[in-house]
Amino acid sequence: MEIVKKNGPISGEEIASRLSLSRATLRPHLAVLTMSGILHARPRVGYFYAGKTQETLISETLKKIKVRDFKSRPAVIKEATSVYDALVALFLEDVGTLYVVEEGSILLGVVSRKDFLKCTMGGADLQKMPVGIIMTRMPNIITTTLDETIVEVSHKIMEYEVDSLPVVRETAGEKLEVVGRVTKTNLARVLVALGGRE
Ligand code: ADP
Repeated sequence: MEIVKKNGPISGEEIASRLSLSRATLRPHLAVLTMSGILHARPRVGYFYAGKTQETLISETLKKIKVRDFKSRPAVIKEATSVYDALVALFLEDVGTLYVVEEGSILLGVVSRKDFLKCTMGGADLQKMPVGIIMTRMPNIITTTLDETIVEVSHKIMEYEVDSLPVVRETAGEKLEVVGRVTKTNLARVLVALGGRE
């Protein structure tokens, strides 16, 4: 890369001789560098540096990682579920947010730890109160889709200051069917995998 950066356009033979290597040994290396967009090759001209910075390469890699690749399973309850039973589900499912759905997994609302705290601080009868009363309701739910990139979904989580986003698919009746969940933990897991720790 350094040789091409300084001397490009430069032929494969010339690069090989500067490195005291044969053209054949160098060929697969040059192929990787051109395929990854770091170098460009032009017939009869030679190799030249494509000017891609490490930042551009990182952002191109991130744009290829879609919600469908790292989403997790959603934890869902019904609107009529009592706040008490919803809290039990929160513990059993070991999540911080539950999605409230109707028949066909259609998204109606979201209920999170803070909603439960508010409700308990208000002294409500948790066995009697349905979760539908305390949830954040559609159309105020921020959602994502299977084809959004990790960058887009992270931006939404930051901008709206929420811990999770339901992954949805639009139905024929223009409703939103819940097909997954993206949390901050999912994002951290991708980072760890990219860092080679998983
Ligand atoms: P926690 O309550 O654990 O801090 P959040 O910060 O995600 O979790 O939730 C804060 C508030 O935002 C709650 O009232 C919750 O109902 C609401 N909320 C959570 N997720 C979403 C979402 N994706 N879209 C809209 N509102 C949400």
